[in-house]
Amino acid sequence: MAVLSDIDTSDDGPLGPSSDDGHQISDDRHQVVFYSGGKASWLTAHRVKEFRPDAEITLLFTDTKVEDADLYRFLDEGAEALGLPVVKVADGRDIWQVFRDNKFLANNRVPICSRVLKQEAADKWVRANCDPENTVLHFGIDWTEAHRADRIPKHWAPYDVEFPLLWKPLLDRLDADKLLKEAGVAEPRLYALGAPHNNCGGLCVRAGHAHFKWALAAIPEVYAEWEEREQEMRDLIGSDVAIMRDRSGGTSRPLTMTEFRERIQSSLTNEQLTLSDDWGACGCMSEYDG
Ligand code: SF4
Repeated sequence: MAVLSDIDTSDDGPLGPSSDDGHQISDDRHQVVFYSGGKASWLTAHRVKEFRPDAEITLLFTDTKVEDADLYRFLDEGAEALGLPVVKVADGRDIWQVFRDNKFLANNRVPICSRVLKQEAADKWVRANCDPENTVLHFGIDWTEAHRADRIPKHWAPYDVEFPLLWKPLLDRLDADKLLKEAGVAEPRLYALGAPHNNCGGLCVRAGHAHFKWALAAIPEVYAEWEEREQEMRDLIGSDVAIMRDRSGGTSRPLTMTEFRERIQSSLTNEQLTLSDDWGACGCMSEYDG
């Protein structure tokens, strides 16, 4: 099995999946695409359909139950435009219920929501429904984030894993915009507001300060909901925990969403705010432990 660091991310080479990468060009095994409701995963599904039109293709969506309402519209319209079925699986709990059950507030270093609601839910369905001898799993990793995905093939062994956005020519989100327009499918509404992804209603426990600052301005109702839920978790756990951290001044301490909002809404200058300009990245289906 090819590992990502071995894959050539230059834009030269034969079109489509390459036997040089250890991938079958013609492949009639069951093709399962991890379909998150974001544009990259739709583009991934488009590519698999384009290059392997005769194979059985399934789009697999794992629901965190805190998704933006428009994600479901995009999920269904996108699948319909490709003529492909979507399997929707869910643990049943939302991220906050998972945090409450574990008495733990997730953060960038320990995103238990991702492990339980995305990875374990997908694992359960794939291992129960897909024969490893006859299945290929597809992930929407593009050339800009290839470094994040080395653990995917190891995690999913013995299943074969492929990254169709790394097939030649390389595609990225601008290609998704063009193809979605041609297919008559409107992009998810959060992108138009400036969101970097369409997961979990536009926020993420792995988001950086820049992302939370964007959310406060662009989707204040989501920010307010998360702020309230974070405080509930602090009360439940009874200690000073927070999703974010303040690493200014050479120290690291929990930075609550309330304090973060109050700082932004104060009259401090950007320099005095001492916030980082990091957007973070959710990595829900691309970063695995071990
Ligand atoms: S997108 Fe972020 S908040 Fe949502 S499940 Fe993944 S890691 Fe957790």
